[in-house]
Amino acid sequence: MRSSQYLLSTLKETPSDAEVVSHQLMLRAGMIRKVAAGLYTWTPSGLRVLRKVEKVVREEMQSIDALEILMPMVQPADLWQESGRWDDYGPELLRLKDRHQRDFLLGPTHEEIISELVRKEVSSYKQLPLTLFQIQTKFRDEIRPRFGVMRAREFVMKDAYSFHLTQESLQQSYDQMYAAYCRIFERLGLDYRPVIADTGSIGGNSSHEFHVLASSGEDDIAFSDGSDYAANVEMAEALPPKGERATPAMDKQEHQVKGDELAALLQPLSVEAQQAVKCFLVEASDSVEAEYVLLVVRADHELNSVKAEKLEQVASPFNLVDSYTTHELHNVFLSPVDFSGPIMVDHAAAQLSDFACGAGRNGVWFTGVNWQRDAKITEAVDIRNVIEGDPSPCGQGYLKIARGIEVGHIFQLGKKYSNAMKVGVLSETGKHETLTMGCYGIGVSRIVAAAIEQHHDDRGICWPDNLAPFQAVIIPMNMHKSARVQETAEKLYQQLKDQGVEVLFDDRKERPGVMFSDMELVGIPHQIVVGERNLDEGMVEYQARKAGDKVKLKIEQVASHIK
Ligand code: ATP
Ligand code: MG
Ligand code: MG
Ligand code: MG
Repeated sequence: MRSSQYLLSTLKETPSDAEVVSHQLMLRAGMIRKVAAGLYTWTPSGLRVLRKVEKVVREEMQSIDALEILMPMVQPADLWQESGRWDDYGPELLRLKDRHQRDFLLGPTHEEIISELVRKEVSSYKQLPLTLFQIQTKFRDEIRPRFGVMRAREFVMKDAYSFHLTQESLQQSYDQMYAAYCRIFERLGLDYRPVIADTGSIGGNSSHEFHVLASSGEDDIAFSDGSDYAANVEMAEALPPKGERATPAMDKQEHQVKGDELAALLQPLSVEAQQAVKCFLVEASDSVEAEYVLLVVRADHELNSVKAEKLEQVASPFNLVDSYTTHELHNVFLSPVDFSGPIMVDHAAAQLSDFACGAGRNGVWFTGVNWQRDAKITEAVDIRNVIEGDPSPCGQGYLKIARGIEVGHIFQLGKKYSNAMKVGVLSETGKHETLTMGCYGIGVSRIVAAAIEQHHDDRGICWPDNLAPFQAVIIPMNMHKSARVQETAEKLYQQLKDQGVEVLFDDRKERPGVMFSDMELVGIPHQIVVGERNLDEGMVEYQARKAGDKVKLKIEQVASHIK
């Protein structure tokens, strides 16, 4: 491809509405252009990268014998009424009517359509297990589309669905899919972590998310520094971005609470109660619907019925939602509270509880023994300061918190959809059996942004080879003044093309400085500079975008050096 025939629309200035670096660079490198909130046009350079991601994803799906299909983006409401999601799905679902006033929707995901396909096409156990996938556009009317294609309303997802007669078979496909996801993210050159994800009512290790580690990520993930353990700390979607969160009335430097302080406070509690407190802190800290307070009462307070009643009474202003006694007789009380003002703690609660903590929009607070009457709890600390450095729940190593971008999510659905939509086959014994299902998503377009978050410097994007829009760029110095430079550049261009290298030939009438800065911004991994000086020795200059070292090469050596 010649630059003069290409649409290379780079921007010098950083667009003011782009908050994260990937969004800024995608705009500056001319990869995407905004059409409306959360809706983007992919330009030639952007689309080349998107197709690279798709290619790797498709190859790895094929390697586990998943079959590619393509389902419609517009879906009829009646299938969603059958599954129950027509009523359950919130405002992220974009509903529309056709000219006959029939209800339709733009697909945020495709469980209903795939269930409809499989119940019609698959009738015997002999056709199972079956895994189908598509790479297709999804629409979700996100409450806060932002960060460019990272959280768009229209985006490209690879979604796969598997169908099985038994849980063992589902587990087998799930494990294969897990391994395929690891290969995908490795091939794409991403620093990622699979984390245990919330499974709602389904339970068990039946859902994993794959996160690309990046400070701009919207999710907190907690992982052990001594083992593979990692779990997500889901960010509620309505949570304001970090900078906009209410800041507690305190001087952060002075009041930050370190993990070892928490450990000291928790010391008198049983291991089990300590665990309850930690789980609580992790889970409740990102809650926005309610904010919670947790009271822990030690076993030696021996809760007789009078005391128990009293404690419930004192907890009542907190709207107690849950209380339970652990095996080691720690009584744990959990209740939502209003953190908007200072929290008044009743004296009786102070005497009865050995430990209390709260968490919510403002962060986390806690106190040990010695509550004071009417203590005003106004301090809040960031969850990370509290959780980091507690031992990991897996028993090995210590927890660390990192920000992650969710790029993939695999889930054992069980029979949720197949029961509702009657997806079944005749088993070997001739009985009708309902199938069990798995679903597996990858945010194909989000990966493009996530990769930039991990691969950039102050001059622009530094693509890993597998993702780059072009592998190599030829930059001729003052070609329009030198026939020799032009001739060599043309020859090299032809040679590289013949050898299957995706090469961009910057044949624009631009100053070398403009060419260099554009190509560095776009992030092409291999640069070859053709200039008079090196041509005297029959050489060209090679420079890697990332490492930056320059080497002189003979023209015939260039292709093998790049590959
Ligand atoms: P998130 O928590 O970021 O909202 P999700 O859990 O709602 O994502 P899934 O339903 O698990 O998303 O969809 C599978 C994948 O699709 C996600 O792991 C993510 O990579 C991608 N994805 C989801 N929503 C968006 C979006 N608005 N823009 C781009 N990619 C998205
Ligand atoms: Mg979502
Ligand atoms: Mg999610
Ligand atoms: Mg998800």
